[in-house]
Amino acid sequence: LLQPIGEERRVLLANPRGFCAGVERAISVVEAALDRFGPPVFVRRAIVHNREVVERLERRGAIFVAEIGEVPEGAIAILSAHGSARSVKVAGQARNLRLVDAICPLVAKVHAEVENWYRAGRHILLIGHQGHPEIVGTIGQVPAGAISVVASPADLEVLDLAANSAVAYAVQTTFATHDAEEMIAAIKARFADCVGPRTSDICYATTNRQRAVEAMAAQCDVVIVAGDVTSSNAQRLVEVARAAGCPEAFLVAVAAEVPFERIAKATTIGLTAAASTPDWIVEAISTSLRSRGYSLVEVPGVQETTRFKPVSLETIDRASFPT
Ligand code: SF4
Repeated sequence: LLQPIGEERRVLLANPRGFCAGVERAISVVEAALDRFGPPVFVRRAIVHNREVVERLERRGAIFVAEIGEVPEGAIAILSAHGSARSVKVAGQARNLRLVDAICPLVAKVHAEVENWYRAGRHILLIGHQGHPEIVGTIGQVPAGAISVVASPADLEVLDLAANSAVAYAVQTTFATHDAEEMIAAIKARFADCVGPRTSDICYATTNRQRAVEAMAAQCDVVIVAGDVTSSNAQRLVEVARAAGCPEAFLVAVAAEVPFERIAKATTIGLTAAASTPDWIVEAISTSLRSRGYSLVEVPGVQETTRFKPVSLETIDRASFPT
């Protein structure tokens, strides 16, 4: 059905693509805080990993800071969708900040899991990318040393843990699904006493976007992933596209970055977007491609119905925040 007809040049638009429920919720709470309290509203770290989103919020009066210590005493501070270490909230309380946590509920689920396993006396193997904000936040739910971050089977080899250790595994929500399966199998092969989450930690949005790009990649001469270089789930989409048979797969943050000369010979281009990429960026890329003679084809995919309850702003009327 989706094979090129003659020399027709087409863009296959992956479905689903773009914003997930957690990103929409996090952006909405910054907008709602700006509406209700007026600027400035401080946000610790990029609320979601997209420069355009951050710049739009900055124009409305949001001020992004790297650390909570940069927020003036008593001000409103919103914590990013990736989740934050407990120490960040404690530091915010010490500065009497009016804190709002925009953590995605699916990251909060992983936090709850690692806390439970820590209390049960298990060492936690967190499958994820060292240094990513979500991983830093998850590690920060339990005392130092309770979690080891592992990204590849080679990382397991260097762990100083006996084979009869009681372990549990958790997974970064945006990890590549196939890589996570490989890691879980390797952990189970090494540790007999191993438990994991009842349902996958990799979120529905990551899973659906990876499956959609995987299904189309082999038909494409090029796959363009709209997303920031800082976005883990964007990077994984590029890797999945390559692994599924499209060697020419790359990220572009905005339409102006599309390397038209490099892709001039492409007959079929796949286009998808990370969970943190707004629609307007995909639309701008699509418009550029259409103006160069490509027709747009929406590829049928999973309909996402997940919605999260909005973050309450009631908490910021209080000076304290429950940790
Ligand atoms: Fe939540 Fe997944 Fe979206 Fe991250 S990508 S904000 S975990 S739904």
